[in-house]
Amino acid sequence: MLKAALEDCNFDLITAGSGKEGIEVLCERECAAILLDVHMPDMDGFETALWVRARGIHTPIIFITAIKQGQSYAMRGYEAGAVDFLFKPLNLNILRAKISVLVELFQRKREVEIKAVRNVESAERRYRDLVEGIPNGIVWTSIADNGVFNFVSSSAQKISGYPARDWSARRYFLIMISHPDDVETVGTAIGSLLAGAGHVDFEHRVIRADGTEMWMHTTIRTGEHRGDLEHRGLSFDITSLKKTEQSLRETIVIRDEFISIASHELKTPLTPLQLQIEGFQRLAKRGELHRMPPETVNRMLGVSAAQVDLLNRRVNQLLEISSIKAGKVTIEAREVDLAALVRKAVDLFEANPTIKREDWKLNLAEEVKGHVDPDRIEQVLVNLIDNAIKYGLGKPIEITLRENAGHAEVTVVDRGIGIPAEDQQRIFKRFERAVSPSNYSGMGLGLFISRQIADLHEGIISVESRPNEGSAFKLSLPLDLENVAGVQR
Ligand code: ADP
Repeated sequence: MLKAALEDCNFDLITAGSGKEGIEVLCERECAAILLDVHMPDMDGFETALWVRARGIHTPIIFITAIKQGQSYAMRGYEAGAVDFLFKPLNLNILRAKISVLVELFQRKREVEIKAVRNVESAERRYRDLVEGIPNGIVWTSIADNGVFNFVSSSAQKISGYPARDWSARRYFLIMISHPDDVETVGTAIGSLLAGAGHVDFEHRVIRADGTEMWMHTTIRTGEHRGDLEHRGLSFDITSLKKTEQSLRETIVIRDEFISIASHELKTPLTPLQLQIEGFQRLAKRGELHRMPPETVNRMLGVSAAQVDLLNRRVNQLLEISSIKAGKVTIEAREVDLAALVRKAVDLFEANPTIKREDWKLNLAEEVKGHVDPDRIEQVLVNLIDNAIKYGLGKPIEITLRENAGHAEVTVVDRGIGIPAEDQQRIFKRFERAVSPSNYSGMGLGLFISRQIADLHEGIISVESRPNEGSAFKLSLPLDLENVAGVQR
């Protein structure tokens, strides 16, 4: 009769022949409502309801009974989990209305549950998207108890070269791929997590699948997932950061070395200068200055002038370096005869006592007209000749100027100490030297500045050399530099 009354309501009705059968049905599927007879053979309605609740099933129960048994009877029903009592003869409209309410509640609950599942899924998707969007980092989780990775972001393959399946195939994979010198660092960090620390943070090297080395910064936190303790890690590739750090450290070392070299180099010319001045002061005090032979005065003043000249050149080099760094060096090109320019530079050294007059070998073209900045080019020539004398062991120096394919080529050749092949590029860089400071004074700036000046002229400065045989420095300049004249670079 009940079935017939509820059939047209479009409910999914399941009938059970006994309390036991009813419990079996409820264990298999979730229902919106239970209509339960109180009087049944074997297990009555109240007992059935208690068993249903004991199995953790909280489906609302409506008891149906023929007899009105009073208050205590109803209480037994409510204690057994009833939400309502209906007495026979039944009012079918009321029955339908009550069941409809319960079915609607059930459907709402279902919708809420589905929504909750969808929310969890979308939150997980969002989290994965965020994780996969980290370009330089590998996000991973591992089971704390056995060190097995149960999640690794797809960036792992790109960053480390090992695919995700390698990460999860072996225990403590992060330790396995760490550089032998850093295995202890990683092991100690994981050990302290296992001992109860909630969070660790460390830097270590990893050997990539292709054998190259990379620096990583790894952060690991402990958390719980489905009852298991897990380690949640983020390993960031910090290789380029480490390289920058390293080069900054080297720069600081170079700077400190440079400051000590520069102070020494600036002080060296001051000592003889001071001695000369003190000598003159002593003579002046005694009123004996006029008694000095003119040649002696001349020689002493010559030494002083040479020291002032040296000091001047070194200070200028330092000033030049800061201008180059600030990009303030410019050239002012005009038409000049490069042969005259080379001769002028050589003249500055011809009186130099290190080298005999007849040991200067000049092989200069008559006249080579070109557009250059004469002061700057003279500076380069003076640097090259100065070096040829300084590192030339007093042996002959040959200077050649020729015109070749629209270029002026000046070559300064010495037969001195020479330069090992591995140093021949480096010496053009700032502060780089290929000799011991105790043997040769200098700041390692001359060639650097010379190359900058050559660059500004769209020219090239190069070297060919063999240790103990000598060096040949070649400056090649385009003769027609009108279009780059005055350009600020
Ligand atoms: P400095 O001479 O003050 O050290 P430079 O920039 O002029 O600075 O030269 C850089 C380095 O190149 C020198 O320290 C030296 O090692 C090497 N060098 C330059 N010219 C010569 C040369 N003619 N023969 C041998 N070595 C040279």
